[in-house]
Amino acid sequence: MDFGLSEEQRMVVDTVRSFVETEIYPHEAEVERQGFVPQELGEQIKNKVLDMGFYAPNMPENVGGGGLDHLTLTLLERELGRGSMALTHFFGQPQNALLACVGEQREKYLLPTVRGEKMDALAMTEPDAGSDVRGMKCRARRDGDDWVIDGTKHFISGGEHADFFIVFVSTGEEQTHKGIKQKITGFLVDRGTPGFEVSNGYNSVSHKGYTNQILSFDNCRLPHSQVLGEIDGGMQVMNDWLYASRLTVAAMSVGRSRRAFDYALQHAAERKQFGQPIGKFQGVGFKLADMVTEIDAADWLTLAAAWRLDAGLEADQQIASAKLYATEMLARITDEAIQIHGGMGLMDDLPLERFWRDARVERIWDGTSEIQRHIISRGLLRPLGA
Ligand SMILES: Cc1cc2nc3c(=O)[nH]c(=O)nc-3n(C[C@H](O)[C@H](O)[C@H](O)COP(=O)(O)OP(=O)(O)OC[C@H]3O[C@@H](n4cnc5c(N)ncnc54)[C@H](O)[C@@H]3O)c2cc1C
Repeated sequence: MDFGLSEEQRMVVDTVRSFVETEIYPHEAEVERQGFVPQELGEQIKNKVLDMGFYAPNMPENVGGGGLDHLTLTLLERELGRGSMALTHFFGQPQNALLACVGEQREKYLLPTVRGEKMDALAMTEPDAGSDVRGMKCRARRDGDDWVIDGTKHFISGGEHADFFIVFVSTGEEQTHKGIKQKITGFLVDRGTPGFEVSNGYNSVSHKGYTNQILSFDNCRLPHSQVLGEIDGGMQVMNDWLYASRLTVAAMSVGRSRRAFDYALQHAAERKQFGQPIGKFQGVGFKLADMVTEIDAADWLTLAAAWRLDAGLEADQQIASAKLYATEMLARITDEAIQIHGGMGLMDDLPLERFWRDARVERIWDGTSEIQRHIISRGLLRPLGA
């Protein structure tokens, strides 16, 4: 085992950290206040990342992406996680579900997205189907050579800036040992398609500026060429996306917790009460010790899961553990960072209250903590026949 970074990994970490500090941090407070990212600012960030040659680091080289292995990508995402998500969204990580594109879909969707000419968003969740993805109601029915979609998706991140959407809908039902479940198929849907509307979603306390949208389909007709992957094969395409996004959430949670911890450590060393730095009181010093231990534990869980993917080993359970632990750890770290700052920790002069609010969603999206526990326990019990 080698716990050191290669020269390339060190370069990636240093470059992305410096980029986030100089190009993202200065805009965070304003984006938070406004609740959106102005188009010009998004374009500016995107163009700088393209100039650095870092755009689409998650995509393979043969489609024009960075071709990073999972471990190096996780190190990169750890650094990105330090910055506001509303802004780092423009760093450009196309959904890897796009790798299911074939034929003309590659020219129309995959390649322009990797080049930064188009932006994508991915839609699974519905008002009545969140964790229970296979209970979705949004349906596509075959009509001659076309498909006609009806239904609603909500909580769709990045929809504000997306040129097209990867949408998963039901294309039929099947009887399983758990009852009737939907068969799911992916579709590529352009903004502006007749019968398809994108509207403003809900205001979330987390990641203000990284808005979510509602997608409405009313008799929306699509040619068969818009099917992504196999008909009824959407679960596989979705699962391919989810493992990657869960690892991303874990890595970003580690990065953000280190940023919050740095504030706490600095404050504990500088703030004096009763004639000494507060960090010298065991009540505060031991908090710092627990915090850094938890962050390191989440970091190693996350890196180890990425390493397993690179080694071609089964990693579902390890990715779920990383996502579960890192996101719950982030909630504790951001809470303690505020505690160590006392009253000032709650004021928006410091970014700590933002980190605390942002942390909340990490335990919900891309599969809640309960769903991660379900995946982990299933991984433990299945080999025993239970
Ligand atoms: C800000 C934001 C952005 C999002 N962006 C996107 C996006 O871009 N694309 C997209 O498709 N989705 C997106 N989502 C949706 C997100 O993935 C879902 O919110 C999440 O999967 C949970 O679904 P739900 O909110 O419907 O909760 P529910 O599934 O209704 O869950 C409610 C509660 O029940 C628990 N629960 C449910 N089933 C079980 C079970 N089997 N065992 C134990 N407990 C269970 C859950 O853990 C949770 O505590 C986003 C969500 C948010 C909040």
